[in-house]
Amino acid sequence: MLLHDVVVGKRDFQKFRGVIENGLFDDIIRLSKKLRNKRVLYINSNQNRGGVYEHLTSLVPLLRDLHIKIDWKAITEVPADFYEVTKLLYNGIQGIEHNFTLKEWKIYEDFNKRIAKEIEDDPWDFVLVQDHQMLGSSMQMNKKSRIKWIWQSHSETHNPTKSLIKQLQKYLEPYEGIIFYFPEYVIPGLNSRRLTTSSIAIDPLSAKNKTISIDEAKQVVKRFGIDLGRPFITQVSRIDSWKDFPGVVDAWLLAKKQIPQLQLVLIGAVSLNNIHAKAIIELIEKKAMGEKDLHLLVNQVERKDIKAFQTASNIVIQKSLREGFGLTVSEALWSGTPVIGGNVGGIKHQIVNGKCGYLVGSIEECYRRIVELIQNPNKAQEMGQFGREYIRKNFLLPRLMRDELKLMVELMN
Ligand code: UDP
Repeated sequence: MLLHDVVVGKRDFQKFRGVIENGLFDDIIRLSKKLRNKRVLYINSNQNRGGVYEHLTSLVPLLRDLHIKIDWKAITEVPADFYEVTKLLYNGIQGIEHNFTLKEWKIYEDFNKRIAKEIEDDPWDFVLVQDHQMLGSSMQMNKKSRIKWIWQSHSETHNPTKSLIKQLQKYLEPYEGIIFYFPEYVIPGLNSRRLTTSSIAIDPLSAKNKTISIDEAKQVVKRFGIDLGRPFITQVSRIDSWKDFPGVVDAWLLAKKQIPQLQLVLIGAVSLNNIHAKAIIELIEKKAMGEKDLHLLVNQVERKDIKAFQTASNIVIQKSLREGFGLTVSEALWSGTPVIGGNVGGIKHQIVNGKCGYLVGSIEECYRRIVELIQNPNKAQEMGQFGREYIRKNFLLPRLMRDELKLMVELMN
């Protein structure tokens, strides 16, 4: 078996009353009633955790609480050759050219055929495929299957090559619904499909995002050896080249020339056999050789403790070079901390430049903004407060729940 059930706890949707607008709350109740007892399967690749995992951890139990029969299955281990092809595909969607060979597409399709086999015997009403790893499974299904397929893209689509677009169109052919984060991400040539744009968003009531006091946050951070008597900045990400950890180190080293006491915390999650990540870690260590104020915490910080860093940091950095959304940005702003982020993808939508942090396009710009905010704590605080309100209005999970439910109800009709 490739797909395994992911176990999640229970949630109570009623707790959102008062947190979100009443109209949105009522919409969700109304739509969910129409889907009562429908069987819905979410599938994703779970290897590096990351944003999609976070999203489903909240969404799945909330939808169950609304009496929709939800299952969530993930692939936990994949053959190395399939992993390499999906990595190329992930990069290709984001603009890194690669001439895919027939052999590579065969590896991809063979794996997806096995996924389809595991799905087709169950009477699902909807299957929601997350991201590109299993996008190709739908076309491998038995033609008699009555399942309605929805694809939810989580990447920044950035000028993929024409041949890659053609291939994606082929895989997307059997999908009845497609969700992109933002209008500029929509892959061309999909006019006949039911398209929705709605970005991922954070769950303000989850254990991960629940507000904690600054004192509680400091207690946690201290355990990891951070000196609370000095300022510190943090980036939290999967260790992937698009997250630009080496660029963060460079910006910090420059900022440190003006603020020698500044500490840098890098929190990274990675699977142990990932050679790309190993190379990035080596590069970080080389750049920071001889520096004692870098706290490189790889696979050391549990999910429940991330919030403490996002709350207690002077600034959160998310210096990505490409970013589908960047949940860490919303998480940090919701924690009242200003964010300096790469001027790309979903980060552009979350940071109002100059209001809740800064959008930066280079190491130079990043370091200047770090220095500015560390030297102006009042400004940093105001930005954090603005950011929290901005996220409340725009990037909380129920908005995406409503859009997904609406799409399923439309497809049912
Ligand atoms: N995350 C985590 N531990 C880590 C690194 C990341 O819990 O060591 C979480 C992070 O808080 C966020 C998610 O993983 O909720 C990453 O999502 P994001 O959208 O920022 O990036 P993605 O991994 O989806 O590209």
